[in-house]
Order: sequence, then structure tokens, then C-alpha cells
Amino acid sequence: MIALLALAAILPQQVFIATPRGLAAVPVSTERGIAAVAAARLMGPLGLVTSLEGTSVRVVVGGRTFDFDLGAPFVRIGDAAYPLVGAPYVARDTLFLPLHWLADFVPRLSSGRYRWDAVRARLEETPAVAALPAVPASSTLTVGTANAITGLRLPHTIVVDPGHGGIDPGNPGQTFPGHLAEKDVTLSIGRLLRAELMRRGLNVVLTRATDTLIALADRPTFCRAECDLFVSIHVNSMPKGPRQGRASGVETYFVSDAKTEDQKRVSQMENDAMRFDTRAPGDGPLAFILNDLQLNEYLRESARLADLVQGRVASIHPGGDRGVQQGPFLVLAAARRPAVLVEAGFATHSGDGAFLTSALGQRKIVNAIADGIVTYLLEFERKLAVGGSGR
Ligand SMILES: [Zn+2]
Repeated sequence: MIALLALAAILPQQVFIATPRGLAAVPVSTERGIAAVAAARLMGPLGLVTSLEGTSVRVVVGGRTFDFDLGAPFVRIGDAAYPLVGAPYVARDTLFLPLHWLADFVPRLSSGRYRWDAVRARLEETPAVAALPAVPASSTLTVGTANAITGLRLPHTIVVDPGHGGIDPGNPGQTFPGHLAEKDVTLSIGRLLRAELMRRGLNVVLTRATDTLIALADRPTFCRAECDLFVSIHVNSMPKGPRQGRASGVETYFVSDAKTEDQKRVSQMENDAMRFDTRAPGDGPLAFILNDLQLNEYLRESARLADLVQGRVASIHPGGDRGVQQGPFLVLAAARRPAVLVEAGFATHSGDGAFLTSALGQRKIVNAIADGIVTYLLEFERKLAVGGSGR
């Protein structure tokens, strides 16, 4: 929660609406813990039309109709409902709409009329362009029958990211047999996790399926339209010293500022793969991404996902429970979805090393991560259903 406050401090105070008719500044309110804008402030610059009936809100902008329910974190477009990172609300007789809707759904469904510039926090109206078909969001709420294994009713896509690869071995796997390094174990667990999630009816994208290097900055790009959450798999290690052979167990990270020396060590270790990135630094500096308006909304979801995954894996891990941790991981910050990084155990601990490289150990880790993901998604679907019943 300290992290949320710290990030709220760097949220822009306002967003801009740039149209051929001029530039309007619209204040951003965070009074309800989400970034929101007053609908009335969008009427002039966007020609927004709103109507409020009971708890039902209808908003028409750019020829598109968006339906909301007060207090429900989703937006309906035609017959489909899409999750939002926050709910619309009324305060001081003013209707507030989530900034997520303005920054994401308005441009996406505007057939090219609007684009969102996240760096400048600016919604820009472009001169008339040829009409493009609207791109549907990933989590369309077409309520089907529950999946027999998971109980999930919606399609979900998970991006699984096996850490390191190719010329970047990750840590050398001191206690691993043979020449195995971190990159081999993360790949093995990642592929097993894909198979297990697919067996449970989920869609899975692997950032790498072979021993190849994917630049850190490119990994989150696998998590775009068709992605509900991002899970990066890594193996921990302790530097030389009295603690080297003693530290053991699993920890799960979500992105924020590091608070402890251990958190700094792990995030520096994993961000270090940047040195294999041949592009100029500055392509995606963390500070730049942390400014993103939506990040602190995803933080809360990431913290919950981390909690569920950590709880499941810790319950089967012989090395013990090191808890949910926070760190400034580049690979998580850019995912723009709930994102966690699992440090599945210590390559510098002989017990963890044996567990991580055994078929049974990997199977247990994978089942536990999959359990955590499914529990998270069930919670997520329940939240949508609660919103849907508010009509
Ligand atoms: Zn790693």
C-alpha cells in the first residue's frame, strides 16, 4: 500500500484533450483510489453526451455508445462487456468516469479518430481518416458455460515468460546438475506451465519456447490486446557470503519501488539482462513507464495475483515461504496488465536446486502457479458478475 501512495504522487494532475478546436486541460481525480475524470469536463472538448438513470450511465462519444453501471468496474459496448481498472462514480453531483476508459476504450473504438499519447497524457483527435473496423478487447464478456476443470466462464489469455535465454544464462545454477543454468530451468517450468494452463482451458502465449534471448523490453509486448495477465519465471541466487548456501524458498514479486536490500538485489539481478539488449538505453526507462496513468490500477491487481500465486507455491515448496515482495522490475512495469515474477527457489541452495531440477518438483511448482492463476481469474470473473447484476 505504501507503493500505491508513492506512485499516486507521480500521477499527472491533469490530462489534455487536443482537438482541431483547441487544447483543453481536464483535471484527474484520485479521490476514490482510481484515476478518474469528470464527465462534464469532457462535454466541450469531446462533444460527450451522458445520461444517468438510476445507476445506469450511458455515454456517447465519437458516434460510439458506452454503457456503465455506477460502482461496477466495466463498460458495455453493444452486447459485450469489458473490464475496467476502476468503476464510474458520482461525487458532489458530478459523474466521474475512469481514466482507463478514456485512455483505452475511446481511442480503441474510435476507428482511428482518437489516439492516446500516454507520455503526454493527451487524447488527440486526428483529422478524418478512413474508417477502420473496431478492434475488440480481449476479455469479452460472452458468458458461456463454466469450464469443467476451472469453473471459469470467460476466455483468458496468459503470457508466460521464462526468464533469460540464449546468450543470457541468468544465474549459473551452482547446485544444479550438469551444465544447467537458470535459463534452462525457467524454460522447462515455462513450457510445463503452458501445457498445464492449456489443459485447464486457458490460452497461453510463451515469450520464448526455445533457448533464445528475448530483450527485456520486448517481453511485455507479448502481453497486449490478447492478454489478461503476465507471469515471469525466474530462479533466485544468493551472492557469495555467509548467507549463500542458507537462503531458500519461493518469493513472488510485483512491480514497485524496492523497499529492502534483498528486493534491490533481486530486481538488479533480473534487470541486468538489459546488458544483452543491443538497443540504446532509454528505449523504455522505468521512470517513464512508472508515469503511466494505468500502472497504479494494475498494481492492486498484481498484488492480489502475487498473493495467490505465492500462497500456492509456498504450500508445496520444501525451501519455505519468503512471501510477496516488491521490486522495480522492468519486465513487469511494461506489461500493462496484472503481472508477477516468481523466483521459484534458490540455485545456490542444494535442497532448492534438487527440487527445481527434478521432474516432480517442476510439476508441483507448475500446478501451484496454475492454481493461483485460476483462483485469481475466478475472483476477477466474480467481480464482473457483481457489476453485471447491478442493473
Ligand atoms: Zn532470473
